[in-house]
Amino acid sequence: MIARLNTLLDWFIPVRFRSSVSDVTVVRNFVLLHFLGPLMGQAVMAFLWLNLPVAGWQFWVTEICVSSFFLVPIILRKSGSMELAAMVSVQMLVGLSLFGSFWFGGISSPLLPWFLIAMVLCFFYLAEAIRNALIGIALQLTLFTIARLVTGEFPQLLDHEQLLLPNVFSIIAALAYMTMMCLFYETVMRVSLRLEQATINQRERVEELRGAMAKAEQASRRKSIFLAKMNHELRTPLNAIIGFTEMLKEEWQDRGEDARKSQDLDRIHAAGRHLLALVNNVIDLSSIESSRMDLSVEEVDLRSLAHDVIATASPLAQKRHNQLVLNMPEEITPLELDALKVRQSLLNLLSNAAKFTTKGVIMLTVIRTTDADGDWLSLEVTDNGIGMRPDGLRRIFKTFSQAEDDTATHYGGSGLGLALTKRFAEMMGGTIVVRSEFGVGTSFTIRVPAIEAQIDQRSAA
Ligand code: ADP
Repeated sequence: MIARLNTLLDWFIPVRFRSSVSDVTVVRNFVLLHFLGPLMGQAVMAFLWLNLPVAGWQFWVTEICVSSFFLVPIILRKSGSMELAAMVSVQMLVGLSLFGSFWFGGISSPLLPWFLIAMVLCFFYLAEAIRNALIGIALQLTLFTIARLVTGEFPQLLDHEQLLLPNVFSIIAALAYMTMMCLFYETVMRVSLRLEQATINQRERVEELRGAMAKAEQASRRKSIFLAKMNHELRTPLNAIIGFTEMLKEEWQDRGEDARKSQDLDRIHAAGRHLLALVNNVIDLSSIESSRMDLSVEEVDLRSLAHDVIATASPLAQKRHNQLVLNMPEEITPLELDALKVRQSLLNLLSNAAKFTTKGVIMLTVIRTTDADGDWLSLEVTDNGIGMRPDGLRRIFKTFSQAEDDTATHYGGSGLGLALTKRFAEMMGGTIVVRSEFGVGTSFTIRVPAIEAQIDQRSAA
């Protein structure tokens, strides 16, 4: 019921008032008061109708005025101006009250209490145009006083006894009207207090966020310093360990030292390389996240890049007796690419395939494709290894995540390679997708925009 009434009232609310709760409350109450007010006025008019010996022109003018208050909400909707609608309402009510009082009972008229309602309406709704409103009211009061002075006394269209009942009714109606306005005022106050509280809370949140931002910026600065140090302090000694191990191994082989010692050196060498790869991955990922890594695009001959990658991955594939196959067209035009990132991404995918496949076939397919979005270079690595379950597939592109809980125990690894490969693909404006079936095999496809290398016109000439 209330919802339906609100829907009806809201039809009269101009669009510009609908976005704020307190505006809607104010305007909705204004419309409601302009439906209830004329209804109460009609009851007083009914008393007059019943008690007047003849309903003369004075009665009909008053009646038309009372009924015309129903038009105020329409004025509001059509003009979109609350000030105009309120001004019309206040001036009409003052005029009606003075005109009615003049003809029907003077200062004991049942229409006189409406003057008070007009004043309250004026202060509630015309606070910003109070000067003009008061000038209008003063003018009307002056006319009323002049009319009274000219006529000498108020016309006696009704007896004083006849006015008693309508007077009581009019005063009760005016009181009810005022009470509604007070309740409405209280609602508006409550809404604005709530808004004020929300603003204070919001301000506190902004302060908190500002503090958190400052802390985050400081942490990011520290991270950058840490990364710069890591880069130097970790890579330098690791490269030295790897280099010296290689030199020692050659020396011992020349001296004919026993094979056991050489095996120990191989272990140190492998561990060093593993650690270096890990440090490189961590640094690369952090650099991407702090936007300190850029693309370095150059003209890339895809055939030699693919052969180079296959040659590097071959020993890994052979470790588990896998066959490594390259599948690419005879002719493939050079493209503008970041060769290092493409190479590193393919090596990540191929070394994973080699790690998770035994006595199988690993295939690298390099092709150009075209769709509605443009030209693409598609790099696909498929294997018929252990595959992954759907649950694992959802995890693998997150940092330090592996498909199964026991992957690290059986196969080693840190869960960084795919996270990095995905970031590289995105940096190049591309994507990486995976399809896999547990126990059957896996296929990763990197797709990056294929931008053909520009032929240098000057050197061609
Ligand atoms: P890592 O191999 O060092 O653990 P990656 O980010 O390269 O880290 O891979 C994350 C996980 O994805 C692997 O641990 C493995 O569980 C799964 N995975 C990746 N490639 C394959 C594949 N070819 N076959 C089966 N599982 C794979």
